[in-house]
Amino acid sequence: MNALGPNDLPNRLGSVFVISAPSGAGKTTLIQKLRASVRGLAFSVSYSTRPPRAGEKNGREYFFVSAEEFKRRKAQGEFVEWARVHSHYYGTSWRKLREAQEAGHDILLDIDVQGHRKLRRRIPETVSIFVLPPSFAVLERRLRDRHEDAPDVIAERLAMSRKEVAHWKEYDYLIVNDRLSVAAEALRNIVLASRLRRQCQERRIEDIIGTFIGG
Ligand code: ADP
Ligand code: 5GP
Repeated sequence: MNALGPNDLPNRLGSVFVISAPSGAGKTTLIQKLRASVRGLAFSVSYSTRPPRAGEKNGREYFFVSAEEFKRRKAQGEFVEWARVHSHYYGTSWRKLREAQEAGHDILLDIDVQGHRKLRRRIPETVSIFVLPPSFAVLERRLRDRHEDAPDVIAERLAMSRKEVAHWKEYDYLIVNDRLSVAAEALRNIVLASRLRRQCQERRIEDIIGTFIGG
């Protein structure tokens, strides 16, 4: 997270942002651009049982844990939500989320549609964003051109995408990632506008209103 100056986010409650998308829609690319262009946005590092990919670091992309450790943490109630995605387990830590919110930091969660549903029940003020490709054919092309997954994995992700896109109505905001610069700007605008919601600013505004009372 970028360092914050004392006057950047005064006396406010942090927002929870969730972003979901079918694999290949461009979510990782958009999150990278967002984090480079917006200050004060922490990224929630999930726990995952999947093996790290080349270039991934424990504690940065995920906390990579064994299935046994994941189970233990789940049993201890550590996760605000968890889900099985593409045959691995993923979960979000309650503690880290609370700490960020209470410190007035916004936090961004990259979680799947099941995770979003569960989180929304527990934190109803969550701001959620669903990213769509312009079409199924474009999604397929992006997955192939990324040269990251074997053909059978791509086929599995595409099959999964048909189920995931059905959840679009559960989200607050929708971004069609056609031209990358336009989609990135839309995401940035959503975050900036959400920070101005009344409930995020109540403490600060009450202080200001206090200066109007009496006199
Ligand atoms: P996800 O994280 O959703 O699986 P990625 O961010 O890895 O997706 O993007 C999938 C591929 O599509 C990558 O190769 C990325 O460079 C490319 N990509 C992302 N957004 C766009 C876009 N708007 N136009 C064209 N290619 C894109
Ligand atoms: P990947 O393994 O490609 O990084 O992520 C696969 C999927 O798991 C993505 O859709 C991502 O959003 C989702 N995911 C990552 N972390 C979590 C998490 O903590 N909870 C849930 N529910 N999904 C997650």
